[in-house]
Amino acid sequence: MKEILINITPQETRVAILENGMLNDLYIERSRSRGLVGNVYKGKVVRVLPGMEAAFVEIGLEKAAFLHVSDVARTGKSNNGNNNDTVHIGQVLREGQAILVQVLKDQLGTKGARLTTNITIPSRYLVFMPNADNIGVSSRIDKEADRERLKSDLIDQPHRIKDAGYILRTAAEAADKEAIASDIKYLNRLWDNINDTAEVEVGNAVHKDLPLYLRVLRDMVDDDLEVIRVDSRETCNIMLEFAGRYVPEVEKLIEHYPGERPIFDLHGVEDEIQKGLERKVQLKSGGYLIIDQTEAMTTIDVNTGAFVGSRNLEETIFKTNLEAAQGIARQLRLRNLGGIVILDFIDMQETEHKRQVMRALEKALEKDHARTSISEVSMLGLVEMTRKRTRESLEHVLCGTCPTCEGRGSIKTAETVCYEIFREILREARQFDARELLVLAGQDVVDLLVDEESGSLAELEDFIGIPIRFQVESLFTQEQFDVVIV
Ligand SMILES: [Zn+2]
Repeated sequence: MKEILINITPQETRVAILENGMLNDLYIERSRSRGLVGNVYKGKVVRVLPGMEAAFVEIGLEKAAFLHVSDVARTGKSNNGNNNDTVHIGQVLREGQAILVQVLKDQLGTKGARLTTNITIPSRYLVFMPNADNIGVSSRIDKEADRERLKSDLIDQPHRIKDAGYILRTAAEAADKEAIASDIKYLNRLWDNINDTAEVEVGNAVHKDLPLYLRVLRDMVDDDLEVIRVDSRETCNIMLEFAGRYVPEVEKLIEHYPGERPIFDLHGVEDEIQKGLERKVQLKSGGYLIIDQTEAMTTIDVNTGAFVGSRNLEETIFKTNLEAAQGIARQLRLRNLGGIVILDFIDMQETEHKRQVMRALEKALEKDHARTSISEVSMLGLVEMTRKRTRESLEHVLCGTCPTCEGRGSIKTAETVCYEIFREILREARQFDARELLVLAGQDVVDLLVDEESGSLAELEDFIGIPIRFQVESLFTQEQFDVVIV
């Protein structure tokens, strides 16, 4: 049983997907930072760079966008199967040429956006690729017979564009021919609009992807879904209208949530989001996970709770690891962690237990919409796995680097800073002819200096022969201090 809660504010749309009352996926879209990925523009080639095999294309952004030759669709397509000839940028693009381009990657800092002419337009069951000519099937549909049936049904569709490419999305598995047919008509209409660019000026978008609350209707609906609750009457009406036109069977699932309580208080969603940012995740059995996200990878360490006695130790560890397997799969989705993930389960003696924990992990990962793969268990007993990067992680969406530790996750102790201050005092006393020194530092450091370290301080004053005063600087972090000559 699946339920979707949608929280709308003018600045932000948040979508929570719950399975059996548990928050499993979270999507956040902010109006200020809504990216351009997926948008299609009428662009103009402003420079061809033969050395880089790329071109700069003007699409109406601050900086010209970047188009590499490998992202330029091959005209004449691949029907001779001879796709390996090297094509140079100068052969496919010339300066001043107007082209339809789609944004692959948003502009970031000084880097312009990255473009492709291999345009892809998703609908509910299909992805339409006007500049390709092959028919593919989502790898999540794994039965060969289903794949073949879907493919041949699609080939038989009368409105299909014969020389264009399509991918059958996972949702197509349960769709009948009529549903696919209406998807094709929808895509054809969309493509006609996009293609009709004669009147459009260079630098304008000819197609934008749907806002998050409508992508929910296109991409996140399946047979298990029981209800979609949205806390804005206005958005609810837009969703109902969209559903009525494109996904009529979903219309009856959409409800306006008029409640006094914030919608994300239902099922404790707000609390779960909070927990999704914490390093430690408590498991019901008393064990817990420690999740660390670094640039290169994510590591998840499984721990037992309080000591449980040695008689049932193996059994307790086994149970904790089983629960951790579920917890890990859920946290990977909720936090949207991608790339390499290293799991450190608690060591188990029995081979059968090891096997069952791996099986539980595989099973829990099956429900993930992002592709995951588990490699072998390493010699040190670590489980290495990967999870496909899709969107940014929850932490990257909601958090920035901590200004106190600048991302290290720890700061120098007050004691360490105290001793640094002592060294600085000595240096300045030797170097300058001061009457008095004033030390500015954070509260905890000053507390330590006037209390536990007061003896050392008295000795230091005697040694340098001038008084030292202290002042708490409330804006300083624990690591910051200043020794001022008075
Ligand atoms: Zn910090």
